Amino acid sequence: MATHLVWFRNDLRVNDNLALAAACRDPHARVVGIFLATPEQWQQHDMSPRQAEFIWQHLQCLHAALAARGIELHIHQLNDFADCVEYLKSFCETQKVDALFYNYQYELNERKRDAVVEKTLDVDVVCQGFDDSVLLPPGSVTTGNHEMYKVFTPFSRAFIKRLHEGLPECVAPPKARSAALPDNEKLTPFDYPRQPVDANLFPIGEQQAINQLRQFCRQPVADYGEQRDFPSVDGTSRLSAYLAIGVLSPRQCLHRLLKEHPQALDGDAGAIWLNELIWREFYRHLLVAYPKLCRHQPFIPWTDNVSWQQDEQQFIAWQQGQTGYPIVDAAMRQLNTTGWMHNRLRMVVASFLVKDLLIDWRQGERYFMSQLIDGDLAANNGGWQWAASTGTDAAPYFRIFNPTTQGERFDKKGEFIRQWLPELGIVPDQYIHTPWIWAEKQQLTLDYPHPIVEHKQARIATLAAYEVARKPE
Ligand code: FAD
Repeated sequence: MATHLVWFRNDLRVNDNLALAAACRDPHARVVGIFLATPEQWQQHDMSPRQAEFIWQHLQCLHAALAARGIELHIHQLNDFADCVEYLKSFCETQKVDALFYNYQYELNERKRDAVVEKTLDVDVVCQGFDDSVLLPPGSVTTGNHEMYKVFTPFSRAFIKRLHEGLPECVAPPKARSAALPDNEKLTPFDYPRQPVDANLFPIGEQQAINQLRQFCRQPVADYGEQRDFPSVDGTSRLSAYLAIGVLSPRQCLHRLLKEHPQALDGDAGAIWLNELIWREFYRHLLVAYPKLCRHQPFIPWTDNVSWQQDEQQFIAWQQGQTGYPIVDAAMRQLNTTGWMHNRLRMVVASFLVKDLLIDWRQGERYFMSQLIDGDLAANNGGWQWAASTGTDAAPYFRIFNPTTQGERFDKKGEFIRQWLPELGIVPDQYIHTPWIWAEKQQLTLDYPHPIVEHKQARIATLAAYEVARKPE
């Protein structure tokens, strides 16, 4: 009897898991799963304690779901990322593994690791990788010259054309292979800081994620275009945390969307949400085409010449939500408290850090990873480079968000701000985005900071810094 090993990584689910389904295809094979925790590598990626907790909770769910199907899941912690290779080699020997199945990870170190694993196991174990965390494989949506698109809109157009030609299919969860295994084993958690996850915002479990997807695609997705920019409204899917660690697949999202809104591919209801899923794909495809992004190098080389400010106090004020700009501060407090931040606000706070404080975008990128429950190198790097104008944004660097007008547009009455900044409770709606003006008029001292920079002046300084960086020597 052949033994098939499934190496779980960012794909903690049994539904629509390409590697797992392939491993189970032979009904006679013995199937075993393994998860290798690599805290040192996670630390290097600044993985947040909330995401670690989310992974831990879902590992336990996966363990149970596999046990119910007669599949053992081994969970093991390694000191060093590089130890994966030796560990897998000896595991394959002792368990007499014939074939290894895994879903690709697209980050550079992970790809290098996989190449070494394949080479090391070469003769004895057949290795099979799958493009599971994407709708279409990186490298498969290219320009006429077979190059990766550098701008989103034409990529998105080409992507949708490909979807019209054929949709990636979902695979069924594996059937039980034998009697259920006892699942009363107490699993030992990995050695990495963990922080509680709010179960109201992010319920634990694969079925919960599927339910959330179904619920979202029934109605909210049709209103997404109107609602998605307003942080006080629950108008987005909040599925990013599940997608980031693979509790849910993008194919499941696409199929559920098309089931409820079959015309989404043609630009009708649901098309705007589909576009967001394509942004996710775009950044993953970019990571493979431009591995320098994994090293946190800018997409546009000259932007590396910008003379960033090293103002530690301002950086701390930004992190703690104490900049004096209510929309920025409310957003940062949402992030620090829940591990999630609304997309509009991610753009606003990123722009503020880079274009108002002139702090290196990489500092913000790292801080986000250290807090986000949905931390994902491709999306986070893409988002930060977009906001810093060092990346693929089609708009030039002189587009700079005004934090006050962003607040006025997207949180007009300050409902979101009031939720996170109770110290502004007494400020009337009219001044909720400029509390310092109200305090001055009232001759009051608020328990809230005065803006740490003046936006207009900061804007001028930033434009000058980018201009100098752009000039040829
Ligand atoms: P929805 O609006 O419901 O979108 C559905 C899904 O599409 C999301 O779950 C996500 O997987 C994907 N998606 C949506 N917008 C984007 C986008 N702009 N780029 C890539 N994928 C997208 N997203 C992450 O998943 N992880 C990150 O670490 C991350 N960091 C970001 C940093 C910055 C500076 C910015 C501007 C954006 C970042 N995003 C990141 C993208 C986006 O903000 C989140 O995916 C989104 O807010 C998650 O909420 P949701 O699940 O309700 O999204």
